[in-house]
Parts: sequence; structure tokens; C-alpha cells
Amino acid sequence: MTEAFIPPAKPIIGEDEIEAVTRVMRSGMVAQGPEVAAFETEFSEHFGLGRASVAVNSGTSALHIGLLAAGIKAGDEVIVPSFTFAATANSVALTGATPVFADIEPGSFCLDPASVEASITDKTKGIMPVHLYGHPANMKALKEIADKHGLQLFEDAAQAHGASLHGTPVGSFGTFGAFSLYPTKNMTSGEGGMITVGDAEVERRCRLYRNQGMLKQYHNEVVGLNNRMTDIHAAIGRVQLTKVGDWTKKRQENAAFLSLNLQGVTPPPVAEGAVHVYHQYTIRVPEDRDGFSAALKEQFQVGSGMFYPVPNHRLQPFQSPVDLPETEKAAKECLSLPVHPSLSQADLERIVTAVNTLAKAGS
Ligand SMILES: *Cc1c(COP(=O)(O)O)cnc(C)c1O
Repeated sequence: MTEAFIPPAKPIIGEDEIEAVTRVMRSGMVAQGPEVAAFETEFSEHFGLGRASVAVNSGTSALHIGLLAAGIKAGDEVIVPSFTFAATANSVALTGATPVFADIEPGSFCLDPASVEASITDKTKGIMPVHLYGHPANMKALKEIADKHGLQLFEDAAQAHGASLHGTPVGSFGTFGAFSLYPTKNMTSGEGGMITVGDAEVERRCRLYRNQGMLKQYHNEVVGLNNRMTDIHAAIGRVQLTKVGDWTKKRQENAAFLSLNLQGVTPPPVAEGAVHVYHQYTIRVPEDRDGFSAALKEQFQVGSGMFYPVPNHRLQPFQSPVDLPETEKAAKECLSLPVHPSLSQADLERIVTAVNTLAKAGS
């Protein structure tokens, strides 16, 4: 096979980003400063969040600080999906609270409201859906459950920059939303995260927790972290913000091409009213998913990803005896195909040929 390998993800770093970093480096002020403040304002505006953004050094920090600022503490329970990246449950556990794992809806791969409601105890303080793969979770049903039981709603929007539900952007539903700016996400700042908050007091607490518990130097109000974003990273993020709209459009076009042309596999469904931003384009391969992935690579030079082969409730730190049949099924069947904005038409056609050939051979 002479064709070049098609990677499952490809961060795009342009000359503009390099120039922005150089500008900050030359300024001599590299830690959290004016670039971070500008990035926060521009992030809220770009995604139409109608609320403040607080920049931190990773998506995991965004979740952790958001939970601390929302008052989550030891003895509390927060309901999360098990079918997600470990950062979701890690951030809950790091507050001292217990992550309680609920099942997912088979279509969206996001939290199943019925399973969430069945998981509520008298210790439950919050529900934290993940907008997995860039598809919004069922926020209407989850909000109803949260309101009915007096719980807070939090959003892990690490994979869903620009996704929305009936016109409302993710990151604007919950007490807070947390975005990741890791290089493989839909946009990056190198490493970084953004907390989006509606309530002024919660926002203030986020700013305290990211900076040792201080807003004013040496006037510490709470026990805090150093999870600040640097101006170098913010400068990268600000440039990426001007490009992410086009990249998302390209992801959606790539996904539409795949969904139109793939045969013999189930393409990812999109819920009514949902805008999917295709952080991942995830199909199900019911028989021998791992062999299918290996054959894509060996026979067609097509990369793919398995997110996530081990559900969080079975990971060593969380071992929880819950029974989550849809989660187990998805963990075995899910395969994410390349959908990133750098794919050429020839790449897309090769992905289609590869998947259709292997699906036919396997059926
Ligand atoms: C990437 C990711 C995170 C963590 O973000 P980092 O920036 O890597 O810390 C959290 N949740 C989900 C669902 C993610 O995909």
C-alpha cells in the first residue's frame, strides 16, 4: 500500500498561531494577563453563550474547579456517564464526592435520563452529562429531572465546541459548562480549558479556585489551586477561535459525506433539534470491532479510534457494581472514523471504500 496513512485526528497549527505566540513571548509578559482576559470575552461571544467564561489550564481543571465552585464536596454524589473519558469521573472524585455511573442512550451515546433518575439518592447533588463526540446530551429531559429533584446540572462540553440543542449552545444550560482545549479537540490552545458560568458568585469562586483562592494578592478567601492559563496559550486559543467555525462546517460536511456513502454500518444518528459538531464520527461494528479497526489500518491505511473501550465504572479507581448494558455494548462496538477538517476528498473516498469493503466481507 503506497497511500499515506490517514490519521484519526490532526490538530491544525497555522502561521497565525505561531505569530501570536511570538508576539506574547516578545512582550515579556507570558503568564495569565490581557490575552487570557480577551480570550475569555471572545470565547463567550463566539459561541453565543450569554454568560462569562473563565480560562484554566485544562478541560479537567475546568470540570474540577466548576464542581468546587458549585459547592460539590465530600459526601456528595454526582451522576455521570460511565461511557466517557476518565476526566469526567476523576474531576468529581477529586472534590471528595462520589461519581455515580448511569447508562447512555444508544443513539446519542449520551446520558439516558431514565437511568439518571433511577440513580438518584438522598446524597445526589448534581447531574453531569457529557456532550459526547460533539453531540448534545438530552438537556431538556435532564433539566426536568434536575428541577424535579432540586439538583444542579453541570456540562462536560470538552468535545462539543459549538454544538447546540434547539438553538441553545452547549455550555449555557448548566450551573457551569467545561470545555477542553487539548490539541485533538475541535479547537486548541496547546493545553487549556474554559469554564462557562451564568451566576456571578459561582464565576467569582471559579476565579478564586484557579488562583490559590485569591482575587486580590495575599487576600486568600478559600483553599485554591494554581490552574491558571498562560497568555501564550490564550494567544493560540484566540487565533483558533477565528477558525473553529469553518473547521466545524468542514467536520459536518465530512460527516454528511460519510453518512451518505457508508453501507453496512450504522452511522451516528442526530437527535431532533441537535447540532452535532462531530468531534468524533462514531459508527458501531457489532462483530469484531478491534479486528475491523486493525484491517482499516493494515489494508487501507485508514486510522480509527476506540472511545472508550473500558467504561469508567470498570476502571481500577472507580470499580462500581452497576449494571450498564448500553454502556457495555457501546464500549465493545464503537469505532470512530476520521472526520477532521484536514481530510481531502480522496481521503473521504478511501475511508468509504475501506469501511464498505470490510463491512461487506464481514456480513
Ligand atoms: C478531553 C476531555 C476532558 C478533559 O480535557 P483535558 O483538556 O484533556 O483535561 C474531559 N472530558 C471529556 C469528555 C474529554 O473528552
